[in-house]
Amino acid sequence: MAATIRCDVAILGAGLAGALLALALAERHPGLDVRLVDADTVVGGNHLWSFFGSDVAEADRWIVAPVVSHAWRGYDIAFPAHARTLDQTYYSIESEKLDRVVRATLPARALMLGRRVLAASATAAVLDDGDRIEAVGVVDARGTGDLSTLECGWQKFVGRELRLEAPHGRPRPVVMDATVDQIDGYRFVYCLPTGEARMFVEDTYYSDGPDLDRVAVTARVDAYAEAAGWHVAAVEREEAGVLPVAMGGDFEAYWRSGGRGVAKAGMRAGLFHPTTGYSLPDAVRLASTLAARRDFGGWALHEATHAYAAKAWAARGFYRLLDRMLFRAAEPAERYRVLERFYRLSPGLVGRFYAARSTPGDKARILAGRPPVPIGRALKAIWA
Ligand SMILES: Cc1cc2nc3c(=O)[nH]c(=O)nc-3n(C[C@H](O)[C@H](O)[C@H](O)COP(=O)(O)OP(=O)(O)OC[C@H]3O[C@@H](n4cnc5c(N)ncnc54)[C@H](O)[C@@H]3O)c2cc1C
Repeated sequence: MAATIRCDVAILGAGLAGALLALALAERHPGLDVRLVDADTVVGGNHLWSFFGSDVAEADRWIVAPVVSHAWRGYDIAFPAHARTLDQTYYSIESEKLDRVVRATLPARALMLGRRVLAASATAAVLDDGDRIEAVGVVDARGTGDLSTLECGWQKFVGRELRLEAPHGRPRPVVMDATVDQIDGYRFVYCLPTGEARMFVEDTYYSDGPDLDRVAVTARVDAYAEAAGWHVAAVEREEAGVLPVAMGGDFEAYWRSGGRGVAKAGMRAGLFHPTTGYSLPDAVRLASTLAARRDFGGWALHEATHAYAAKAWAARGFYRLLDRMLFRAAEPAERYRVLERFYRLSPGLVGRFYAARSTPGDKARILAGRPPVPIGRALKAIWA
């Protein structure tokens, strides 16, 4: 017989944003009856999420500290005409660890995994087995809404965690190696030394279309590893993604597409960096903001998350403008020049860019000088 489950806060989607919010609420409001619902049987799916130290404010570190799997001091970038090490901490979270920490922190009844949500409102959710959740407030964190409401380019990739036959001797991540052949837009390879003889290698493309040729890209990951002299003993895991790079669009339509009147978190709230498609910094900030609340009523949560996300969207026009320059003004094979130029700027500016916290001075600095794209096309992209 179908059951009605009553609780204080129902978080729909135990991905990155939902899990971080659940952890933050458990820490700040231990008496709150929180449920974390996901169609999958694990928390966080199959991911390796990375972020820069400067993406997360000191005051919010408590949210991510328990789930960090790897930390490095400094990272490298390499372009045809410019290579550099940036003195910035870099972190990764493995979904397996997020899953472990959530299971250890939340009471067993809070985890409602393997339960698909069919419909949600501000205070209720219907599950595919007929059960119904009635909550003081619902937060929907079930991943992206309707991306056709936005004007997007795409960042797509395949990453493989490789167990090597011998230590690789690389002390730091390579966040962008753009010395590789430029194929299907701006291409770079990303390498994380996750162990003495383990390397996560990801081949990434900033492309006009979302189609990902997984077989071809996987073969390029393997070819890159071989060229680096890394003999692969085993492929430990693999992930792939196609992330939106937002050039414009209708934020309100996007918000409504994820459920009218329902509070949202993560990608579903449009809370991702327009240029990188990354959502971790926003997920931490929103979890911190919501954990500081006392009112978890569905309507109030909707108002709060909508206002928060709308403000973030409005403040990020600069990044969408840069995305238009990248996609509309630069020839696909020349896009790397935009990033090559960007990476000549100061580490502080680069850090604030990734955190979506660029100052007016940063923005002026990024746009100053001769653009690495044809001026006429750059102006057209600006006015579009
Ligand atoms: C492979 C990959 C790597 C990435 N790496 C990074 C990175 O390094 N750093 C970074 O900041 N960002 C990264 N991103 C981008 C983005 O931050 C992630 O996609 C992030 O997981 C988004 O968080 P989210 O909580 O909004 O959505 P998700 O993490 O996708 O979570 C959504 C959850 O909702 C569940 N769900 C969906 N529909 C239903 C339903 N009907 N009923 C119940 N549950 C449902 C899903 O099972 C899933 O668990 C990456 C994305 C991908 C795909």
